[in-house]
Amino acid sequence: MIAIPRQKPVFRFAPSPNGPLHLGHALSAFLNRDMADASGGRFLLRIEDIDLARCTPEFEAGIYTDLEWLGIDWEKPPRRQSEHFAEYQAALSKLIDRGLAYPSFLTRGEVKARVAAFERESGPWPRDPDGSPLYPVDDRDRSEGERREMIASGIKHAWRLDMAKALSQVDTPLSWTETGDGDRGEIVAEPSAWGDVVLSRSDAPSSYHLSVVIDDALQDVTHVVRGLDLFHATAVHRLLQTLMHLPAPVYHHHRLVADSAGRKLSKSDGDTGLAELRKRGLSVADIRHLIGL
Ligand code: GLU
Repeated sequence: MIAIPRQKPVFRFAPSPNGPLHLGHALSAFLNRDMADASGGRFLLRIEDIDLARCTPEFEAGIYTDLEWLGIDWEKPPRRQSEHFAEYQAALSKLIDRGLAYPSFLTRGEVKARVAAFERESGPWPRDPDGSPLYPVDDRDRSEGERREMIASGIKHAWRLDMAKALSQVDTPLSWTETGDGDRGEIVAEPSAWGDVVLSRSDAPSSYHLSVVIDDALQDVTHVVRGLDLFHATAVHRLLQTLMHLPAPVYHHHRLVADSAGRKLSKSDGDTGLAELRKRGLSVADIRHLIGL
């Protein structure tokens, strides 16, 4: 009999170097490392730096310093998304060729003005699970000629998924296996709640949603352990995975760490930054205690 080798579980911690790591990142990193160790799995670090305007080498260096201090080691070298734009572009091209993505031309300011005008007249504009207004659909109906002309004339554009068309090409409902701190079990994915999501931005040749699913597949990630703030985004990830025939990892969305006032932590909130806490003399055991581990 031929023994089929069982794939080792693969975990990843995927911070963006757009600010200092805080206690919430420490929880994510420890959980990933601990779950990898407990299952005899691998632990990868991925630097999610597609936002070239906000990500800096200093913040990236801070990630390495903080993880080393916490005693968390990772397989070297880490994958840096900014070195793989061509891969995301190739995946996007395939979606464009299949008629599943279209160029969108409205700026953030234009969308905001449109939504405000609508809401003054007619009541609430639909919003995504994060509370951001859904992108207006006008660009979806432009002719090929018009699109080409607008792009040729140099108008900045992003590429968006045609959500309705994408959903018509997959068996619904989509779902994912969830083992985290919120709802568990087989979760029904509702990607339509996000509208026509961005696949590549006018200022970055990819988007979070596109690059995260490509990388999880390319890196053979079997378990995605991340904060509950990304729970609903998983619906978009499942849709993209299904469209691109990529495997679905198991998802574990963990509780978020709140500050003393009960607010979600943010990178601009210096008080809970790991480097700051280290400077104030806290030990790694103190950090584990603070995040309830
Ligand atoms: N880069 C994302 C963040 O820093 C995490 C993405 C993920 O784990 O899927 O919030």
